[in-house]
Parts: sequence; C-alpha cells; structure tokens
Amino acid sequence: MPVTPAQQAEIDEARRQSHPTMRATVPGMEAHLFTAHPVLDHGFIRVVDYMGDDAAITQAARVSYGRGTKQVTNDAGLIRYLMRHWHSTPFEMCEVKLHVKLPVFVARQWIRHRTANVNEYSARYSILDREFYIPAPEALAAQSTVNNQGRGDVLAGDEAARVLEILKGDSTRCYDHYQEMLSADGQAGLARELARMNLPANVYTQWYWKVDLHNLFHFLRLRADAHAQMEIRVYADAICQVVADWVPLAYSAFEDYRLGGVTLSSKAMECVRRMVKGESVDQANSGMSAGEWREFEGAIELN
Ligand SMILES: Cc1cc2nc3c(=O)[nH]c(=O)nc-3n(C[C@H](O)[C@H](O)[C@H](O)COP(=O)(O)OP(=O)(O)OC[C@H]3O[C@@H](n4cnc5c(N)ncnc54)[C@H](O)[C@@H]3O)c2cc1C
Repeated sequence: MPVTPAQQAEIDEARRQSHPTMRATVPGMEAHLFTAHPVLDHGFIRVVDYMGDDAAITQAARVSYGRGTKQVTNDAGLIRYLMRHWHSTPFEMCEVKLHVKLPVFVARQWIRHRTANVNEYSARYSILDREFYIPAPEALAAQSTVNNQGRGDVLAGDEAARVLEILKGDSTRCYDHYQEMLSADGQAGLARELARMNLPANVYTQWYWKVDLHNLFHFLRLRADAHAQMEIRVYADAICQVVADWVPLAYSAFEDYRLGGVTLSSKAMECVRRMVKGESVDQANSGMSAGEWREFEGAIELN
C-alpha cells in the first residue's frame, strides 16, 4: 500500500489549506501538490514544495527586474535556445522538493545523483515497515544474453512461480527475524541500527529529495532512458509527468533536445554526410567499432 488511510488524511488536510502569496505559482503543479502518485507496488512520488516556473527561467536569463512582459512565444524560443546551447544556469532557478518512497536497491542508484539535497527515513531511529518490492509477473525477466547490464525475455510458468516464491519467502523470513531481534519482550532487544542489516535490498525506504531543474533534467535524461533499470525508470517517468505540468515550455525543450535527441560523434556525422550524398556506408567503411555502429544504426533507425 503506497500510503495508509492516516497518511492520506494528512495529505487531504494539507490540500485543503491555501496561503496567499506574491510568488509565482503554477496551476498544473498546484494540482500535484502533496498528492502521492503510486509507483511500483508500494512506492510513490509526491511534490512537497516547488519554486519557480517557466517565467523564472527566462527572467533569470534576461536578469529582469519584474516578471517581464515578453510573450509566451518569446519565452518558448528563449528556453529552447538555452536548452540547445547548454546555457544551464537559468534552469537552476527552479527547484522542486519531492517525497519519494522507493526500494533500497533503487535508492542506491538514485543517490548516485549527488547534486540534490536528501534526507532519508532513519532506520536507526524508526522501525521499517513490512513492505517489499515484489516484481509484477511481466517484470520478472531473465538475464539479457546481449547486455550484461540488462534483462531479456519474461520468465514464464514454473520458473516464474518459483522465483516469486523465493522473493516473497525470503522477504517475509528476513522481516520476521528483524522483528524477532528488535523485540524487547523478555530480552534486551537488538538496536534498530543493527537489526536492519538483516533486511533485503527490496525493502522500502523513503526520503525527501530537493533538486533544481537543471540537475533534475540530468537525472531524468539518465533515468527515464530506455537503458535505465525499469524499477528506477518508472519513478523518472512519473516525475516527467509532474515536470511537464510544472514548466511546460522547459519540459518540451528538454523532451525535444535531450530525451528525444541523440549526440553524434564526429565519425558518425561524417557517415551521415556521406549517406546524404548517396554513398553506401556500412560498419566496415565507417571507421566505427561494431558497438558504435550498432548504436548509430539504432539512433538514426537505419534498419
Ligand atoms: C544506465 C546507467 C548505468 C550505470 N552503471 C553504473 C555502474 O555500473 N557502476 C557505477 O558505479 N555507477 C553506475 N551508474 C551511475 C553513473 O556512473 C553516475 O554516477 C550517475 O548516473 C550519476 O550521474 P552524475 O554523476 O552525472 O550525476 P550528479 O552526481 O547529479 O552530478 C551531476 C554532474 O555534476 C558534476 N559533478 C558532481 N559531483 C562531482 C564530483 N564529485 N566531481 C566531479 N564532477 C562532479 C558532474 O559533471 C556530473 O555529471 C550508472 C548510471 C546509469 C544511468
């Protein structure tokens, strides 16, 4: 369960309140505020706070005194220009604070993004809930035979059932032992900071994560990508939807230049030029390695 009824009541109460402000607000983002968007089986993302909007980006780029009187079309053009030319600091003027509930093995990938502010739920201070990520049947994939860092076909039949049984059984058993060690009933009870080491990496943790838009786009570029592990990608996808409602002009530029765009090496660009001239180019005469050629073919959809 992503949120308990008591937690949902707190969220509902927070959403009933409003405060007058002279600061920029975005209707699309106000609609998201505090609401938990479910991700995976027990996880969520929810916006706790945000600062800035599309206009804050152009305002900083122009170093304006007020909100500026430029039309949306001018703002869209300027934001696209900034994105295209890697003029990134104006995007840092917007910030978002998220509350994220996620499995520990996903958190380990996420925390590698160092340019954010994080405060995690303390399992030294508090007892973790009995909540584990158990993949849905369609996510129970075999090891990929072509990519060491990826997955292949979905497991089926007895093998899928056996794997699920192991995952569920191990999670339950480990949590039972965690509770057994913590229990002070007739014994001293092991410290929480020690008992937690028995928990598997699919147990859920939570944190507040605050990041500026430039670094959020960097995170999304890497984690909403097809090469990212599915279990972190679904969080990135959920955040993408929120960002599209928050800063639609900036998100649209990001989608165009970063998410949907590709970077071509000088060798690849030379191949494109030769192809445009009608020359027959293949891996052997491209100057690229087999791996580079495969990715190049994929990028420009040669096949
Ligand atoms: C598909 C995929 C596979 C991966 N596989 C592995 C793996 O096998 N093993 C592994 O260890 N990691 C792996 N990673 C993690 C990856 O190497 C990065 O650590 C992670 O993506 C965070 O990126 P970042 O450092 O650019 O982000 P951030 O930490 O947010 O940094 C943003 C930018 O700030 C600058 N920066 C921040 N801190 C420093 C610093 N201390 N020194 C210099 N510059 C800094 C850099 O320019 C950096 O790009 C993988 C990531 C992806 C997306």
